[in-house]
Amino acid sequence: MFPDGDVLEVLFLYVLYAICSICLSLATAWLISHCPWPGKGHLGDLFTCCRSSWGFMMLRTCRALCSQAGPSTGGWQALNFDGGAFHLKGTGELTRALLVLRLCAWPPLVTHGLALQAWSQRLLGSRLSGALLRASVYGQFVAGETAEEVRGCVRQLQALGLRPLLAVPTEEEPDSAVKTGEAWYEGNLSAMLRCVDLSRGLLETPGPTGNILMQLKVTALTSTRLCKELTTWIRRPGASLELSPERLAEAMDSGQDLQVSCLNAEQNRHLQASLGRLHRVVQHARAQHVRLLVDAEYTFLNPALSLLVDALAVRWNSPGEGGPWVWNTYQAYLQDTHERLRLAAEAADRAGLAFGVKLVRGAYLDKERATARHQGTEDPTQPDYEATNRSYSRCLELMLTHVSHRGPMCHLMVASHNEESVRQATKRMWELGIPLDGPVCFGQLLGMCDHVSLALGQAGYAVYKSIPYGSLEEVIPYLIRRAQENRSVLHGARREQKLLSQELRRRLLGRGLRVPH
Ligand SMILES: Cc1cc2nc3c(=O)[nH]c(=O)nc-3n(C[C@H](O)[C@H](O)[C@H](O)COP(=O)(O)OP(=O)(O)OC[C@H]3O[C@@H](n4cnc5c(N)ncnc54)[C@H](O)[C@@H]3O)c2cc1C
Repeated sequence: MFPDGDVLEVLFLYVLYAICSICLSLATAWLISHCPWPGKGHLGDLFTCCRSSWGFMMLRTCRALCSQAGPSTGGWQALNFDGGAFHLKGTGELTRALLVLRLCAWPPLVTHGLALQAWSQRLLGSRLSGALLRASVYGQFVAGETAEEVRGCVRQLQALGLRPLLAVPTEEEPDSAVKTGEAWYEGNLSAMLRCVDLSRGLLETPGPTGNILMQLKVTALTSTRLCKELTTWIRRPGASLELSPERLAEAMDSGQDLQVSCLNAEQNRHLQASLGRLHRVVQHARAQHVRLLVDAEYTFLNPALSLLVDALAVRWNSPGEGGPWVWNTYQAYLQDTHERLRLAAEAADRAGLAFGVKLVRGAYLDKERATARHQGTEDPTQPDYEATNRSYSRCLELMLTHVSHRGPMCHLMVASHNEESVRQATKRMWELGIPLDGPVCFGQLLGMCDHVSLALGQAGYAVYKSIPYGSLEEVIPYLIRRAQENRSVLHGARREQKLLSQELRRRLLGRGLRVPH
């Protein structure tokens, strides 16, 4: 099940870690429910602090820390992703990361995650099973439940030179009347508005700034059914005039009734309400200086999502607004992405609009292929991993060239854990004279590939960690679904596991060399 022979070491450490975490967690819960102090909410923060530092302090005495790599000075240097930057993290955190990544690379756990969670609740009771999840998967990939817990997590990231990219985890359930009704979308709107405020509040120094970013999932504000309908319509020839971004932008701005002939009365009402919600989120984000990075989803939804982003861009990415406030996401695993990206970048340039892009490989490979097989249509994805890598590399080159020509009017997030892509980006930034902390930044998921994020952050690049937050009940199903979609990524986190176990071994026993590239 586990490829390396160091399971016992890690298991021993983790059992210690889990026991202490659970004790601390129960003690904190008891104190919060029994003590009468007004500031007792801070106990949660205290718990997080204790949990991440106890293991570190205990075991740090056993081993001298490895040498510190200082931030780079001057020109481009090939970054070392050899785990050297792990010296910034506590032993407890590294142990948890190793254990959780190994567990997540075990296919049955991911496949039957929801069922296993239900079983553990039944067997252990919701308190104990909750405490176990908090000490493992939830603690690894989620910032916390309350604003205070999120702030605590972000403070730790900021101390390591990393920035937050908050994401509200919402999952529409097309067959559920509750999770598709107008009230559910309105609830999501309130959550998004709070997330904007939280993102703004997390900034270390007050005052207007352009580097606060937040993820936005459009299908949390409008139904996938409507997006499917719109996508079908957009793909028809001649639909462009009726559904132009300018027309939608006008409707968003004025709040005037919009009637689209391909939709029935109910769908038109939902479209109107959705446009209103999108407008409110962006308006609020703009006022709070928060840039919104819209997620890309499935190909049967993406054209509609892009249409809505284009409409928002007409209004909010205009030159007078000071850079792109709404960014779109491009998935390199789709065959037509490079061409679409080229056309969109050129169109924004021609229209004088600022342009923001989050470049990813893409998370829905299996489902895209299964849908194509089921419908007997052409597979829209690249034929293999190497082709996706080549596509990512070409898109990256295209975007970096645009950034070098357009300066702050064009922004890019290199949202990838892939060391080669990150290396290519840093090298080309240097060759093109793009500043380290300028319009190009990097993005990785919280709890994933810290060896890449920390090395980038220490070298002075702008690095964001995508951070979901929310209660266990809300987030665990979301995490399991993400894990199912990202099986190949979790499976491919082998190198990270190797680096983690090597660092832990060094701290414990003073042996183990760094993994060579
Ligand atoms: C900050 C952030 C935001 C993100 N936002 C989005 C988003 O909005 N939408 C979205 O879809 N994803 C999003 N992702 C996830 C992303 O698309 C990838 O799934 C994930 O980052 C893994 O790709 P990688 O570049 O990190 O690394 P790698 O591990 O090198 O690449 C794995 C990826 O390669 C591709 N791949 C693997 N095997 C094959 C194959 N046989 N054939 C073709 N391609 C293959 C798949 O895309 C797979 O996810 C986001 C990721 C981050 C870090």
